[in-house]
Amino acid sequence: MARYTGPSCRLCRREGSELFLKGERCYTDKCAIKRRSYPPGQHGQGRIKVSDYGVQLREKQKVRRIYGILENQFRGYFETADRMKGVTGENLLFLLERRLDNVVYRLGFATSRDEARQLVRHSHFTLNGRKANIPSIQVKAGDVIQLREKSRKITVINESLEGVVRRGIPQWLELDKDAFKGTIKALPVREDITMPIQEQLIVELYSK
Ligand code: SF4
Repeated sequence: MARYTGPSCRLCRREGSELFLKGERCYTDKCAIKRRSYPPGQHGQGRIKVSDYGVQLREKQKVRRIYGILENQFRGYFETADRMKGVTGENLLFLLERRLDNVVYRLGFATSRDEARQLVRHSHFTLNGRKANIPSIQVKAGDVIQLREKSRKITVINESLEGVVRRGIPQWLELDKDAFKGTIKALPVREDITMPIQEQLIVELYSK
């Protein structure tokens, strides 16, 4: 599957905010956006007038990049969100937040969503006791995610779990570190998504 393989920090600089794509590095002074908070490229420091469309497009790209979703799949999420009851923009964020790879990241088993996706694909987790290796699976309240016995000595996972305190675990999830187990206590609500996202702009973009 096609995916972006260029420098992650460039994406943060492009979107003008920290997207937390590089794990621990994002929390250090080495973070590129802390050092160069202007867009990449030759004209990055110039004055650029951005249209309404440009603002909406950037917001969509930002969210897509945070969750590591390709354009077609993202539009699919939007269409599903649009058919659901409630506010379309919020529904979109809930669908993204409930992806298995995101939950693995949010529980602290990985330092980035990219890393979480890789771990899920390599079958390191079970969902309700059964092998789960599809990153896009939607979790539901009451689901239990557990690291498989054979994977519990993997250094990157253990180091990530040590560092999760700093990041914090959202209140809709519960981690039992000793059992390498996470539980979905409830479905996420808008307040649980703390990244600076204006989902209404994405709705406006796709509604044109
Ligand atoms: Fe973004 Fe992390 Fe790179 Fe900082 S270190 S620019 S937050 S990917």
